[in-house]
Amino acid sequence: MSKIFFDSSKETLTKYSTDESIFKIEPQAVVFPENIGQISEIIKFASENNLSVTAVGSRTSVAGQALGNGIILDTSKHFKKIKSFENDKITLEPAIILDDLNKFSAKKNYIFPPDPASSKLCSIGGMIANNASGARAIRYGMTKNYVESLKVVLSDGSFWDTKFPQKTSSELQEKILEKLPGILSENEKLIRKNVPQTAKNSCGYDLIGCLENPEKMFTRIFVGSEGTLGIVTEATLKLVQKPKFDTVVLFYFDKLEKIAQSVSFLREFNVSAIELLDKTFLDFVNSQGKLNLENFSGKTEGLLIVEVLEENKVEKIVEVLTQKTKLAYFYEKALSEEEKQRIWALRKAASPLLNERTDSLKSVRVIEDTAVSPKILPKYLSGLRKIFEDLKITAVVFGHAGDGNVHINPLLDPTKKDFREILQKLANKVYTLVLECSGTISGEHGDGVLRAGFVQKQFGEAFPILVEVKNLFDPKNILNPEKIIGKQSALESVDFKF
Ligand SMILES: Cc1cc2nc3c(=O)[nH]c(=O)nc-3n(C[C@H](O)[C@H](O)[C@H](O)COP(=O)(O)OP(=O)(O)OC[C@H]3O[C@@H](n4cnc5c(N)ncnc54)[C@H](O)[C@@H]3O)c2cc1C
Repeated sequence: MSKIFFDSSKETLTKYSTDESIFKIEPQAVVFPENIGQISEIIKFASENNLSVTAVGSRTSVAGQALGNGIILDTSKHFKKIKSFENDKITLEPAIILDDLNKFSAKKNYIFPPDPASSKLCSIGGMIANNASGARAIRYGMTKNYVESLKVVLSDGSFWDTKFPQKTSSELQEKILEKLPGILSENEKLIRKNVPQTAKNSCGYDLIGCLENPEKMFTRIFVGSEGTLGIVTEATLKLVQKPKFDTVVLFYFDKLEKIAQSVSFLREFNVSAIELLDKTFLDFVNSQGKLNLENFSGKTEGLLIVEVLEENKVEKIVEVLTQKTKLAYFYEKALSEEEKQRIWALRKAASPLLNERTDSLKSVRVIEDTAVSPKILPKYLSGLRKIFEDLKITAVVFGHAGDGNVHINPLLDPTKKDFREILQKLANKVYTLVLECSGTISGEHGDGVLRAGFVQKQFGEAFPILVEVKNLFDPKNILNPEKIIGKQSALESVDFKF
């Protein structure tokens, strides 16, 4: 083996034992490979020594998918090069940060549209592995829609370019090439039957995406696979032209149900974002003196931030929501770039601000990423309310109302004896409701160790296909085990980080 920097100091292991999830899992070592040859050597070493390998980018995952008890392979130091940029295609290494990619592409008037609120920190590799998206998914879709091809290191240490999958260089690659299409086509009916009826989904492997894009099958299977099938070392992405116009309108509502109803009207205008901030969140930010919204009052049950890319639609949208349907009781238009940025900053700060609570209650991410069809959102939100009442829980609701993907963060005291039990009850009840609504337990964040166990419920009879795919790519189960097809949710036994 060439010289590879391994770090197993207590300080480093403690640092890498957490990501942005509620869990803590200590690895045995952290490595910082400098090139793809070293990644291959690390995987072979792990395979020979029966150790797991978890690739990480910026470790902003919220479901524990950047945690592992073996080797953490950190790409963030040495995989930051942009390799080429021609027309609307960019080829880059996985540790590039999303905001940096967009600063770079803006010079040529392009954007990479998937826009997680963590854009300042998150890496492209992590976005690909989680199939991340954000506020603008309603118009632009998810990361999977922009990945053209990938270079990956597989579980046998071999290198594969998914642009030319037929150019195999190992037995494992030949096996994948031969078997994957059959696994998918033989199970097509079952796969289709169990697909969630939602605008977006980051749960499980993207089997349907592979079936519907056969020419990209060997690329799509890696997108959203959470580092469990291979390690991405280079990606070619498609960019889109920067919009010529954008503005933001803030709508005020006196009932959460009215917000849910408004979403259907707004979707007809093909707006680029419909983002929700509920009263619990607004009250908290207000109490910190950080809200800065003059028109917020006791009457406000929630706000919708609506981004519009066509100037001629703005007045029509305002008319529909405030006069025709009277769903919103007030609105404000951002009149300057500064105001626009201020509104977006409030939305993007939602999660970090909630983490700043100084009382005993913590904002806990455990059911934080469910999605249902936007048409069912009113029914889903009232079902949620009932669960919170039954369990006597207060929860903050915000996020991507436009595509039915709401982030729900219960406020709970982790020092209470029954903390784990409450989380389990909550997850079971909410995920059951989600499945009754034909929704998904993860719209964009991914499964991680948190949702392992629940993925089986989500996929039902189609779950064994996921297991077959994993076994095909990683027969020794060394790549980020216990994610996606893990047997049990970490809620059962894994330590919490609080
Ligand atoms: C405040 C906050 C807001 C967020 N908002 C959003 C949001 O709006 N939308 C959204 O989708 N997500 C959001 N997230 C979640 C998270 O930021 C995204 O999923 C992000 O894409 C993860 O990127 P990362 O670089 O941190 O990846 P990591 O957390 O380091 O890793 C994520 C997954 O990718 C795998 N991985 C990393 N690099 C590679 C590689 N080179 N090859 C193979 N696998 C790899 C890891 O093993 C892991 O499974 C948010 C998180 C926070 C903390």
